Amino acid sequence: MKTIGAHVSTSGGLHQAPLNAAAIGATAFALFTKNQRQWTAPPLTAAEIDLFRKNCAENGFGPAQILPHDSYLINLGNPDPAKRAVSLDSIVHELRRCEALGLDRLNFHPGSHLREISEEECLGLVADGMNRALEKTKGVTLVIENTAGQGSNVGYRFEHLARLIELTEDKSRVGVCVDTAHAFGSGYDLRTAEDVRATLAEFDRVVGLEWLRGMHLNDSKAALGSRVDRHHSIGAGLIGEECFRTLMKDPRLDGIPLVLETIDPDLWPREIADLRKWAG
Ligand SMILES: [Zn+2]
Ligand SMILES: [Zn+2]
Repeated sequence: MKTIGAHVSTSGGLHQAPLNAAAIGATAFALFTKNQRQWTAPPLTAAEIDLFRKNCAENGFGPAQILPHDSYLINLGNPDPAKRAVSLDSIVHELRRCEALGLDRLNFHPGSHLREISEEECLGLVADGMNRALEKTKGVTLVIENTAGQGSNVGYRFEHLARLIELTEDKSRVGVCVDTAHAFGSGYDLRTAEDVRATLAEFDRVVGLEWLRGMHLNDSKAALGSRVDRHHSIGAGLIGEECFRTLMKDPRLDGIPLVLETIDPDLWPREIADLRKWAG
């Protein structure tokens, strides 16, 4: 069974996220557990945690349907040791928040080399940060998101994701999230059913579908291989509807959060309904 939703707002408190998701007909959702433009946040109160858990339970959302997203500031691959240490503290802080909220995974962007070190060195630093963060926390899986390769971001080749998994010591707490717009921007074609099957086969060959812990379903305003990250509504962009129709029919994507990060929240109820219809 497909669990489908969107990255919903937490305006008014984290407990609003499951309510916002339920209101658009979602059976999965993503959220920021804190302001995504700040390093840390005040600790969660027992009342906040209880209300979040209660609203999740009452609306049928278990941990396998929820994919928290980390702050945009975090760069575990930062070549500057002092700045990298701030990122490490911040991701540990986020993992602990997830743990407190009863969540089992945290989606993060691997990082950027800032044109100061090689991609391989950067991936080594990211993996080191992941290992340290996992050592300091328990119960929450780090979910590496593929990137479009914009700027100096690593993670735009499936080989990068495989390398990070290879370097992770605790393989029970690492996974991957594939963002369709990022994959397309980085050069993996998804326009036809055949393209989708070929790209998933390449992902399975290089990384392995067994590591998939979520997907971001986004159409793209940016061209194939442009290395630009620009999302669009489903069917409105350069990827097109056939990709999402095809993904929805693939039983290997059952049971993981499938999350829209498309640009018009007013369209989310309709997009979710379409995706569910295509899933059959
Ligand atoms: Zn992301
Ligand atoms: Zn994404």
